[in-house]
Parts: sequence; C-alpha cells; structure tokens
Amino acid sequence: MEVIRAKSDLALALKNRRFLRMEVGFVPTMGALHEGHASLIRRAKKEVSFVVLSIFVNPTQFTDSGDFNSYPSTLASDLELAREEGVDLVFVPQAEDVYDGGAHAKRMDYGRLTSAFEGRKRPGHFDGVIEVVRRLFNIVQPSSSFFGEKDLQQLQVIRHLGKAEFPSMKIVGCGLIRDADGLAMSSRNIRIREGFRDHALKINSCLLEAKNAIAAGLRVEEALALQRLILEDEPHVELEYFAAVDPDTFEEYFGQETEGRPFLIVAAVVSGVRLIDNCLL
Ligand code: AMP
Repeated sequence: MEVIRAKSDLALALKNRRFLRMEVGFVPTMGALHEGHASLIRRAKKEVSFVVLSIFVNPTQFTDSGDFNSYPSTLASDLELAREEGVDLVFVPQAEDVYDGGAHAKRMDYGRLTSAFEGRKRPGHFDGVIEVVRRLFNIVQPSSSFFGEKDLQQLQVIRHLGKAEFPSMKIVGCGLIRDADGLAMSSRNIRIREGFRDHALKINSCLLEAKNAIAAGLRVEEALALQRLILEDEPHVELEYFAAVDPDTFEEYFGQETEGRPFLIVAAVVSGVRLIDNCLL
C-alpha cells in the first residue's frame, strides 16, 4: 500500500495505473477510521481494480472551530485498517496543497439540499464539503466514488455535484453501519464521555419507534411529534431536528405522497458531541 502526501506525486502514481487500464475507485474520509469507513472500502474493492482512500480533515466544512480542533486524529491505526482492508493507495494531503494556498470555499446553492436541515444548522458546511470533494475529484479523477448513507444529506449533495460537474463518474451510496448496540458509527463517537452513551442510544431507538409506529398506521406527523417529545425530554440530549424527508429533494414528507423512499433523519448534540442518524421509512 502506497502512502502519498503531495498531489503531484499522486497524479504521477495514478497516471501509471490508468496507463495499465486500472479502474480507480475513491473513498474520501476525514480519518479516525472505523467499520463504517471499512464498509466503503470493501464495496470499492468489489467494484474497481484500484482503491484510493483519502484522509483529510477539511477545514472549510467546519462551522465550529472547536469541533475542527478536537476532530480525532489516529493516522497510524487508520493506515493499519486501510492496509488490512486492501486499500491500494492512501492520500494524506496538507490543506495548502488541496487548496493551492488559503483554504476557502465558494458559495453553492442546490436548493433545499444545501439549505435545509444540516445546511440550516451548519451554515457554510456544504460549501466546504462541495469545495473539497470537487478538488479531490479533480485530483484523483476516479471512475467511481463511495460515500455513506450515514451522511444522507451529504450523499445527496454529492450526487448533485456529480451530475452537474462530473457526469461520467459513478457515485455509489453505501449503507449505514452501526455498533452492536445500535449507535450509528461515527469518528466523533470516541468523544462521547463515559456514561453518556445510553443517552446517545436514544437517538436510534426513537428513530425505530417512529418507523414502527408509522408502519403500524400512526400518521407521520404524530409519530414524529411523539418521538421529538421523548428526545427533548432525554437528559443530556439537545435535539436539533427530527423529520421525515424525501431524500432526493430534502422536502419534508408528511405521508401523503406515494412515490419515493422517505427517510427519517435526526440530529442531536449529546454531551457536546453532535450526532446524526437516519433510517429508511
Ligand atoms: P467522514 O470520515 O466522517 O467524513 O466519513 C467518510 C465517509 O464515510 C463518508 O462518506 C461517510 O458517510 C462514511 N461513513 C461514516 N460513518 C459511516 C457509517 N457509520 N456507516 C456508513 N458510512 C459511514
């Protein structure tokens, strides 16, 4: 497994692979790798002949400098996981190289995809995500890229970017991976302080309660309202949103429409750690 830090070296390494007609698949991450990331790598291994993983904590997508500064960094174990999973090349760039100098993100507007929910709670977040993904796509030039449904809104934003600016690239969405107790895996989970995990687990249990209640015939609005109350009452949990959406548009879903695959989405802060989760209705 090669580990490359400079984008000029990466371009050279990939040129050789393309010359050998290898199909390049790309898994962008911010490191602190876990099983969720590993599942993306495994999917990529199935679909392409050469897997590039990037590890880069992108400064322009953070709306809270405290979150950026405390973002976990575990490069040695990340490289170990990447090697075990059969990654061919790991790209670990510096911000100056990715951004050609000062890190800065252009404003982007994909309607509700960038302005609702995560976009509203974290203004500028998707500008930073789009900027870094566009730059990484241009550097790596993969034939397909792999993203998790864990970050459902981000996945849909990137699908939109792909259609608009990289029409020949395949964007592959991969299922959300959970810990055995149901908590959606996230690099930030290691920052949940001891004794607070049970409160965090309420997020997933409320999603499931709402899903089951709706399947049993309760109106979407009523199921959401009930679970919002439960989460708002849960100690150490600050609920940000709990909603049902059409994932293509991030329009709220109220249960009347018959088409599409509506998702329940939720965001909450537990002991200072912001967590998001979702499930298919
Ligand atoms: P991150 O390192 O958090 O930026 O995530 C890198 C990629 O891994 C993104 O496409 C995420 O959606 C994906 N990912 C993170 N956590 C999970 C998870 N629990 N299940 C599936 N994919 C995930």
